[in-house]
Amino acid sequence: MKKTETSERSGQSLSFFNGWKYAPAPESKDHISLKKQYGLFINGEFVPPSSKKYFDTINPATEEKIAEIAEADEKDVDLAVNAASKAYNNVWKKTPPKERAKYIYRIARMIQERARELAVIETLDGGKPIRESRDIDVPLAANHFFYYAGWADKLNYAFPNRNPQPLGVAGQIIPWNFPLLMAAWKIAPALATGNTVVLKPAESTSLTALKLAEIIAESGLPDGVVNIVTGFGKTGAAIVNHPKVNKVAFTGSTDVGKLIQKAIAGTSKKLTLELGGKAANIVFDDAPIDQAVEGIINGIFFNQGHVCCAGSRLLVQEGVADIVIRKLKDRMETLIVGDPMDKNTDIGAINSKEQLLKIQEYIKIGVNDGADLYQSSCELPNKGFFCKPTLFLNTSQSHRVVQEEIFGPVLAVQTFRTVEEAIEKANNIPYGLSAGIWTDKGSKIFNLTTKMRAGVVWANTYNKFDPTSPFGGYKESGFGREGGLHGLLPYVSL
Ligand code: NAP
Ligand code: MG
Repeated sequence: MKKTETSERSGQSLSFFNGWKYAPAPESKDHISLKKQYGLFINGEFVPPSSKKYFDTINPATEEKIAEIAEADEKDVDLAVNAASKAYNNVWKKTPPKERAKYIYRIARMIQERARELAVIETLDGGKPIRESRDIDVPLAANHFFYYAGWADKLNYAFPNRNPQPLGVAGQIIPWNFPLLMAAWKIAPALATGNTVVLKPAESTSLTALKLAEIIAESGLPDGVVNIVTGFGKTGAAIVNHPKVNKVAFTGSTDVGKLIQKAIAGTSKKLTLELGGKAANIVFDDAPIDQAVEGIINGIFFNQGHVCCAGSRLLVQEGVADIVIRKLKDRMETLIVGDPMDKNTDIGAINSKEQLLKIQEYIKIGVNDGADLYQSSCELPNKGFFCKPTLFLNTSQSHRVVQEEIFGPVLAVQTFRTVEEAIEKANNIPYGLSAGIWTDKGSKIFNLTTKMRAGVVWANTYNKFDPTSPFGGYKESGFGREGGLHGLLPYVSL
């Protein structure tokens, strides 16, 4: 190891050690079992798609094919919805709440037992660092099942003096950024409240949902209570439009959310939408600076910025802007970008080629609009889809990189002078999913949390999740809440 020059890129005199190379620490793949081809999970068993069509799912870090996934069409969706409807009317609706809870607990425990396998498959299929799948996605998925198992026989306490009733069949459509976790967010509250499910994972990340189907089959959950169908957007649309689907829960892009809202207009289907975001981390001059820098890094580079609530904007008070930006650049230099299966990796692979192209397009847009680009000097692997951690400095509120969701490791930085200016800038975007506030003063935190139009506001921390607390958006970030007691409401009629 050698002590190196000053950080030339940040143009500052702060020196640091960048001669350290971590020895590779790859997680083993020996313990996982994957089939070459996956069918659709309908009525308790895996069946081939009626079209006999399959598509490949690849590892975005190596571009190698992992398995073939069935492409469900309207016929398959019809089978799945009918199975769910039959299971609802004949079995699940009549299953005593305490019994429902037992199944949900069992699924939670089985996720824990197979945590290592699930984490490895999540990372291989989606590109996120193994550290994150292992420490965040999988444990949180199990916790969601545990938490909602607890509610199954206590719904009358959740809604006192009401008579909460299930809705029937829930059609659930999820994105590729937290595949297993989003499946848990959707399935656990639906089962706890007595609904049955047809779930569709995103095209590029179906594998952990299919592994969850195996767990569900092994758990002994009655056939047809949970059905998992894979495919593209057309499969999702077939679920949304099926007349026997009583409730639609969607997490994904704002554009598709709008399509779904239009598609079900005029029907009695209940809807929750969890859509995009463009959250601001607001750093005041009395903030604990090092802690804030770590929070900003975690907020935008965690999971390659594939996070709807990513802190993709930084609003920093003028007096501390220079030091925050310098520390941010220095910290970015130390981030390890590369093999997601390596336990040292901080930033893994971008989920797909299309997403990488979209991020690269936004980086061009930022430069053309006149913002200053800064990227860390790390080398990217030759194969796979990777993006350097990126900052845009000197941005203004009208820049597209400030207004639009990029869904990648790209942070737009702005400064402010007063509290009012920070609130104005933070709220002046179409989204309202989350925000972060960094300050020493509790009073400032309380003042801001009441004025931020954001579903979640973190104070002196970022990206913290817990099954007991609700999550959801304002404005174009959607409506309805998932998690906590609030997460039961979309699945019951009162
Ligand atoms: P997406 O393109 O909207 O896709 C989401 C899901 O919807 C996928 O399973 C997709 O299938 C399916 N779909 C596509 N067209 C459909 C249609 N017309 N009808 C019904 N379903 C359809 O989003 P994504 O690119 O996967 O995910 C990224 C987005 O999700 C970002 O905007 C992010 O902010 C948002 N997100 C929000 C939250 C939240 O809680 N608010 C959480 C995570 C992500 P295929 O992809 O297989 O075609
Ligand atoms: Mg994949």
